[in-house]
Amino acid sequence: MRYISTRGQAPALNFEEVLLAGLASDGGLYVPENLPRFTQEEIASWAGLPYHELAFRVMRPFVTGSIPDADFKKILEETYGVFAHASIAPLRQLGGNEWVLELFHGPTLAFKDFALQLLGRLLDYVLAKRKQRVVIIGATSGDTGSAAIEGCKHCENVDIFILHPHQRVSEVQRRQMTTVSGANVHNLAIEGNFDDCQEMVKNSFADQSFLKGTPLVAVNSINWARIMAQIVYYFHAALQLGGPARSVAFSVPTGNFGDIFAGYLARNMGLPINQLIVATNRNDILHRFMSGNQYVKQTLHATLSPSMDIMVSSNFERLLFDLHGRNGAAIAGLMADFKRGGGFSVEQERWTEARKLFDSLAVDDEQTCQTIAAVYQQTGEVLDPHTAIGVHAARECRRSLDIPMVILGTAHPVKFPDAVVKAGVGKALDLPPHLTDLLQREEQCTVLANDLGAMQAYVAQHGNRGKPL
Ligand SMILES: *Cc1c(COP(=O)(O)O)cnc(C)c1O
Repeated sequence: MRYISTRGQAPALNFEEVLLAGLASDGGLYVPENLPRFTQEEIASWAGLPYHELAFRVMRPFVTGSIPDADFKKILEETYGVFAHASIAPLRQLGGNEWVLELFHGPTLAFKDFALQLLGRLLDYVLAKRKQRVVIIGATSGDTGSAAIEGCKHCENVDIFILHPHQRVSEVQRRQMTTVSGANVHNLAIEGNFDDCQEMVKNSFADQSFLKGTPLVAVNSINWARIMAQIVYYFHAALQLGGPARSVAFSVPTGNFGDIFAGYLARNMGLPINQLIVATNRNDILHRFMSGNQYVKQTLHATLSPSMDIMVSSNFERLLFDLHGRNGAAIAGLMADFKRGGGFSVEQERWTEARKLFDSLAVDDEQTCQTIAAVYQQTGEVLDPHTAIGVHAARECRRSLDIPMVILGTAHPVKFPDAVVKAGVGKALDLPPHLTDLLQREEQCTVLANDLGAMQAYVAQHGNRGKPL
């Protein structure tokens, strides 16, 4: 499989190369040159397969030429072997023909484990073959950092540095990062905010000389492998609800358009999906596009669903590329407009085309809490605030009651106690068994000034399993 850039000017890469690449050299994002397409018979024949077997069938075309089948199967079996539920991604019924797909049974209790557990293993496999080491530097406001650390802690050939804003992440989220020990795991608390951390990561990609030749790898959702891994659970859910003979609808709490883009790809690969709902919080750039054809940057609001607090949606460019007939020059033009003026609209027929599949809603904190409270009263289930946004949007935007509606349950509620308390759900939530002693475990973290040079010097000093590069 070959991968091309959404802006049309960067060289095509194979899977191994795209795994190690961040942004394309032309500023675009990599996408498959040709999407695989499965027949209905083929998809139907996968019903009842264990998750890792299904994952093999769905993802195999994407890695062909880079990873032999037997090795890929083994990697997938290990990856999904660390999940704490036998179904890996169980469905739980909430209401009439309405289901939550629980994606929070991985090590860090959020859906990001599906992709990052795989990414760490794929990196180690490819790097061992190439006899190469890499450094990861990532910024996090919470979920990504812990999932990336858990995914990479066993990697022989990777040193991972995760920057979080000092004293601005919740205790559970911080401890999920800082209590992981390993000579290749480095937690840096930056005396600044999340944007400061992200800016440092961006600048480090732009000028990598401080790494003395060690390549830098991206773990945010611009990395193609993350999107690829997320396609699988759309198939998994649909197969349990009568697909592919029956269509299914999905409501997806989203910020960077990564998770929902995977659903869009599942549909283009042959899975009958009749509706995808973009569910945002008050940071609603995606909703403003889907409802009014305005993709315009606005100020950032802190919400009860912090993992979706973004101003710009990095993966949206991948959808725009398809909407524009995969014309890289057109995307480069739109993105230049965006950079210059902070916004754009697309031609009416392209927007109408998107609206055939996508609906959207922005849900505020009050509605989020009301949904958590209502669902708790109706079912006894406690939703996390991100999932609650998906449920609220599903109930408002649903096109057909005959078609099963699946809401992606993106995190375990124990990660977001503030929202659960605000919603008035009196129940104290327990950490799952593998995390019960989280608050007693020893933490390892280095506090650094909000200074690019200081951060880069630290990485250069510790980037080779704690030793200098
Ligand atoms: C990352 C995250 C999201 C948003 O995912 P996108 O890929 O940006 O759409 C939603 N919910 C939770 C809990 C997350 O951690």
